[in-house]
This record gives sequence, structure tokens and C-alpha cells, in this order.
Amino acid sequence: MTKKVSIEIGHGGTDPGAVSGKILEKDINLNTGLELKRQLERHGVKVLINRTADVNDKATEFVKKAREFNPDAGISVHANAFNGTAKGFEVFRNTNAFKIVSNLLCAHIESEVKALGRISRGVKDSPFLMSSLSCPTAYCELGFLDNPADYKDFDDSQKQKAFGTAYAKGILNYFGIAWLPEKAVSAGGGERTMYRVIAGSFSEKANAQALVKALKTKGIDCFIAEYKN
Ligand SMILES: [Zn+2]
Repeated sequence: MTKKVSIEIGHGGTDPGAVSGKILEKDINLNTGLELKRQLERHGVKVLINRTADVNDKATEFVKKAREFNPDAGISVHANAFNGTAKGFEVFRNTNAFKIVSNLLCAHIESEVKALGRISRGVKDSPFLMSSLSCPTAYCELGFLDNPADYKDFDDSQKQKAFGTAYAKGILNYFGIAWLPEKAVSAGGGERTMYRVIAGSFSEKANAQALVKALKTKGIDCFIAEYKN
């Protein structure tokens, strides 16, 4: 049976979520959530998502759609702000009939986030609407964007995507679906043969620069790539 996951990417559009200077929670959530979606779909999981761009979203409307979708798990993607010194990841579980399985799902996600080197504030009972679904849910708060010492762990798109990947790994572990490395997936379909032009390799940087200069005078665009030999 194909597994189904609903993803709620927190806030969006006129609702920035938590804010600290120019840092907006909605942007962090979008980067993280889109990577989560991509990784799940790569493993054959069917995803329902509330938004894929910076647009307004009403959690009350999405929760209705999510109920109709009848997912095997529901994930909420958020980031925190508090007093400027709080730090760490935290994840919230259902308090309804799905509490025990939700706790298990949250524990799988938490363990993948810890594998990124992050500290966790633990798995807690959820007060949030998205946790009222009739399936295990995990409401993830990736960190505190108003604490520079915490924000450094998710201050760019690549780091935020790493959280999306960690969430996906946790969910897939929970489902018992084996993780497929990216290369193994693309080898079957999208892999292309590329042709790189090499004009010379030098141990002296000045010689490489001289060749670049000579090629550029002939109108050939080129650059120096450093490598260890
Ligand atoms: Zn939020």
C-alpha cells in the first residue's frame, strides 16, 4: 500500500509566523517543507501539502483537506521564537487515540534531527490543531530563530533542507521504508554523460593563471578549479 503523508508548512503570505529582524519563520518552513516533500515523493510516498510558495494559508481549511486525504502520518513544519536564549529542536505528538504511535513517529524524527548534531528539547504533548488528525502526527519546531546561537544551525537554505531530509528519514523509518541514496535513484533515469574540457593542470597557480589569461584573450571563457593531488 502506498503511504500517504500530509505536510503543513507553517504560515505564509501575510502571516510571517515568528519574526526576528529580517528572519521570517514562513521562509524557513517553506525551504524545509519542500525538501521534506521531495524526499518523501522520491520514496513513493503520496504527499498532500498546504502550500508550495509564499502564499496565504488557513490551517483550519487545510486540516479539513487533510482529513479527507486520510494520511498515514501528518507533519507540521515550523520554527520557534521565544526569549532570545532558548535553543534546540522540539516535536509535538497527538494527545488523541493516536498518542502512542504519534510518540513513536516523533521519536524517529527526533533521532534523525539529533544525528544532524542538534540538541532536542524532547517530544511533548501537542496543543495544535494539526495534531487532531486521525493518524499519528509530528509537529516539528526546528529551532529558535531569535537566538543567534541556535539560528546558526539553520541560517541558510542548505541547512534548512537538511532538516527536511532528517524529517523524511524519520518518517520513512517509522513506515519501515528503506532510505535510498540520491545517486541510486537518479542512476536509473536521469543520469547524463557530461563532457568537461581540460586545458591543463599545474602545480604553480601562476602558470594556471597565465593559461586562463591566454585563453581569455582568445575569447574562451574559463576558470581555475583547485583540487588536491
Ligand atoms: Zn509556526
